Amino acid sequence: MAVREIKILGDPVLREPAVEVEELDDEVRALVEDMLETMYHAEGIGLAAPQIGISRRVIVVDLRDSDEEGVGPVALINPTVVESGKKADKAPEGCLSIPGMEEVVERPETVTVEGLDPDGNPFSMQMSGLLSRAIQHEIDHLDGVLFIDRLSPLKRRMALKKWQKSRAEEVAS
Ligand SMILES: [Zn+2]
Repeated sequence: MAVREIKILGDPVLREPAVEVEELDDEVRALVEDMLETMYHAEGIGLAAPQIGISRRVIVVDLRDSDEEGVGPVALINPTVVESGKKADKAPEGCLSIPGMEEVVERPETVTVEGLDPDGNPFSMQMSGLLSRAIQHEIDHLDGVLFIDRLSPLKRRMALKKWQKSRAEEVAS
């Protein structure tokens, strides 16, 4: 197990659609372990493989510290949203690949997600609340989509400007 480097906005791997896992072998299970360790080290609640530079469809989420009934750790291989509820929900989101930025994002409140667990067992769950939001955010990463893409163009421009400024100040100080 190892803590991997987290790729930051601007790295092209974050914009690549990730490749399906065809064989669930020890390499994939080792990747899951590294992703969990990297996520805990960065104090995040979710991580997708492209965020550590691995363009494969693997995500991890752990909500135990952020939600009273928070589940975790959850690792999913080839996860997909198979159904989205009509009701939308708005809540603040952040991303380990865009450190320091937090913006309100609108997403379907309830989704049904299917995939495989690291042992190859089928996973299918209808979810809402923070779990739904976190998993949708991570699945977006597998398609090269970042949460800033879900903001209005104006809000996105403002948020990016502010983020770039704070990054520049961080480097300077
Ligand atoms: Zn993210």
